[in-house]
Amino acid sequence: MPFSSLGLTPALVLAAAARGYNTPTAIQRQAIPAVLRGADVLATAQTGSGKTAAFALPLLQMLQPAPRSADPNASIRPKIRVVRTLVLVPTRELAAQVGEVLHGLAQQLPHPTKVAMLFGGVSINPQMMALRGSADVVVATPGRLLDLVEHNALRLGEVQHLVLDEADRMLDLGFAEELKRVLALLPAKRQTLFFSATFAPEVETLARGLLNEPVRIAIENTPEQAPDISQRAIEVDDARRTQLLRHLIKENGWSSVLVFVATQYAAEHVAEKLYKAGIYATAFHGSLSQGARKQVLAELKEKRWEVVVSTDLAARGIDVAHLPVVVNFDLPRSATDYVHRIGRTGRAGASGIAVSFVNAASEAHFRLIEKHQRQRVPREQIAGFEPTATLAPVAPSLTDPHGTGGIKGKRPSKKDKLRAAAAAAGKPS
Ligand code: AMP
Repeated sequence: MPFSSLGLTPALVLAAAARGYNTPTAIQRQAIPAVLRGADVLATAQTGSGKTAAFALPLLQMLQPAPRSADPNASIRPKIRVVRTLVLVPTRELAAQVGEVLHGLAQQLPHPTKVAMLFGGVSINPQMMALRGSADVVVATPGRLLDLVEHNALRLGEVQHLVLDEADRMLDLGFAEELKRVLALLPAKRQTLFFSATFAPEVETLARGLLNEPVRIAIENTPEQAPDISQRAIEVDDARRTQLLRHLIKENGWSSVLVFVATQYAAEHVAEKLYKAGIYATAFHGSLSQGARKQVLAELKEKRWEVVVSTDLAARGIDVAHLPVVVNFDLPRSATDYVHRIGRTGRAGASGIAVSFVNAASEAHFRLIEKHQRQRVPREQIAGFEPTATLAPVAPSLTDPHGTGGIKGKRPSKKDKLRAAAAAAGKPS
């Protein structure tokens, strides 16, 4: 099914093709006609599903003057400082990324469409200047948006289209209050597009309060849509992880690796150790200046770093085309974060590898991650890096619907303990 059959104009179809989007993804096939019809949308989609273009293409089309407009130069740009299309995102990085997609697509259109990106961590003045001549689309994080409203740099009372991107993340990051304040400034009559990777009760409640008879779109992770990520779990002692990482990079000829660690300190420390060992590595975390963060991301995308060692800051939303390898040097705190981290690879149809370092201390946690994703990852050992402590035996089945072999939680159940004792004694369980 081509893009043209979704109701997009030839200009938008060409704009999509210019970015290499020739065939719509599942979310695009479902969302684009619904958005063009003016319906509200409630979408769950896996990371890397193409959700940005799923809202960007139809919204840009709605900003284009109608073809029968008498004056071909007629601008439908709203009055000064009045915003009609607002995209709310949780992080600066996502604001920059979504803004770039919208801007890139808009560049290809015959009528000028201005996209403004508003996020904190940088001086407010250039953003105020950018809004002076008004903007067709504003992509913003809630806090900076409110600052700019307070400075009278823009007004939200005439927003016609609202997108909430990564709504779950927005709540996770504690933006509920700011979000509420932004929503209070918007007119009740508008189109709302709600995107979230997960639907915890508070996300459901937020969606229910915002949407009017939405078209529901849930892109299941069916085998043909599932990102092609092969997961590996390598057993290694904590103290030998950097050496193992170096070994893996050399052995496998990995040229572009995103490594996740638990703390900013670890990001700096591991990057430095790798750098000293002759691997072109740098750190990425929230204490870097906005300029530095932007630069590292741009350079990662350009493949100028062999390794970027990051906190979970880079776990969501960041889109690096053809990032082949993600390494969990430290395991993430939650199974959801694991899904987001490994989702940085295997994007847009490419295949990827996600390696996790595990050991006796983190084994139980990794089993919870496996249970959550209903997928076992075989444990491996690399010659020369075998761990000193041995791991408890792994429960046999994660998908057993009767729960006879499932992992119950961090603390093993009685049955797990019996099974482990039987396995240790070499008896069949
Ligand atoms: P997103 O889920 O919006 O972050 O998009 C994930 C990746 O898919 C990005 O690199 C997009 O450029 C790419 N992409 C989006 N739509 C398409 C499409 N129709 N065909 C090919 N690639 C796409």
